[in-house]
Parts: sequence; C-alpha cells; structure tokens
Amino acid sequence: MKSTCSESLLTIPRFDQIPFLIHGFGTAAWTEDCLKSDPAFEGFRWVIMRQTHSDIIHTIEDVPIKVLEGDALITASTRIGLVVKTADCLPVLLLSESWGVVAAVHCGWKGTGKHIIQKTIMKLEDDLGCNPSSLLAAMGPCIGPDCYEVGEDVLRFFNESGLSLNVFRKHPERPDKHFLDLKKANRQQMLEAGVSEEKIFFTGNCTHCDTNLLSYRRDRDVSGHMYKRMYNFIGIKLT
Ligand SMILES: [Zn+2]
Repeated sequence: MKSTCSESLLTIPRFDQIPFLIHGFGTAAWTEDCLKSDPAFEGFRWVIMRQTHSDIIHTIEDVPIKVLEGDALITASTRIGLVVKTADCLPVLLLSESWGVVAAVHCGWKGTGKHIIQKTIMKLEDDLGCNPSSLLAAMGPCIGPDCYEVGEDVLRFFNESGLSLNVFRKHPERPDKHFLDLKKANRQQMLEAGVSEEKIFFTGNCTHCDTNLLSYRRDRDVSGHMYKRMYNFIGIKLT
C-alpha cells in the first residue's frame, strides 16, 4: 500500500522543497486509504467537504464536527489536511510560505465562472492578512483544452460573470460548441488577484486522455465508477 501510494502521487518540486508542507495530487491509484497509511502524514486530520460547484470558502482553525459544504478550504493551523476531490475539474493548491497559510480549491467550470479562486485569494487576505504576492499556486491535472467541450451556456455564464472569453476555442464542426481551457481561465484569475506569474506551477496530463487519471466525462458510463474522484491535498506539519 505504502509504495503504491507514493508512486501514484503527483507533486510540485518547488513545494517539495518546503520542509513544513505536505501536498499532492493523487492519481487514480491513490485512494483515501493513502491519506491514512502514509507515515509522512502521521498526526494529520483530514477535512473532506461535500463539494457543490459553489463559491463557498471555509477558513478553518480546527477539523469541523460536521461535513462542510463548499468548494474551497483555508487554514493556518498545523496538521490539518485540506482535501479537494476531482475528476476533470481543476484542483488548485495555494501556499504562503511567509504567512504560513494554505488553501485547497475545487475549480470546475461553475466554480471558475463564480470566481472561486479569486475569492479564495481575497479571503486569504481578509481573514488571515495574507498578501497575494506572497502566494505560490499549484494546478493539478484536469481535463485539457482539446477535450473539454462545453455548450453556449458556459460561454454565456463566463460572459455574464465578466470573465474573458479568450479561454474558449470554437468547435471546428459544431457551431454551438466550444472548448474551454480551465487552467488558463484560473491562471488569469490568479494573475488578476495579484499572484506572480513565476509562482504559478502545473503538473499532470489531461484527465480525459491519461488513463492513470480519473475523468468523469470518460468514465461516467462505466457502472460503479462514476463517483470515484482523485484526492488532492495540502497541509502544514508541526514546525
Ligand atoms: Zn485530453
């Protein structure tokens, strides 16, 4: 279990260098049991939300008694592992080394249209005084811009939300369809919110193309697998 766990986790080298941090983007083989069995995470307690494609963000000091509903978590507390689950949606992990705060954000098209990453960055500043220019950001695997076909409704939603439409590309054959670049859309929001370009990192292939990753769109018809999600997490160790 242990070796399978570490082999099936994607990490960001810049984040690996930080001694007080744990983080990772789990692939399909990385299960919830890995959170509990890996000695590197000993003493951690995990916060797993009921995600609703919202812009609800929780700043937590301790592990809540009830399951939280929402799509982003922030903490400055140690040994609390923040988890977001994904299969095609984009997971983003945020860290301020100087402020000692972390966040995990679930960014699908709905959350992206609701500016969830921007709102999380604002909340980091409002609740914990964290300067956006101090943030490091890590984007994990999501559905790629050549595979993420969306309808006019998504384009309209982005337009009404005041977001740039340069993240869409017209479908070559179907006039009512577009391809959405989720990473680009969230990168733009982070830059606007004050994150420095050189502090935004990426890992992972397209979830739809890489069979080591989970894709809701690819796997939804395979019975029994449509609720499977990948685990993405970040947390602060005792220092
Ligand atoms: Zn793809």
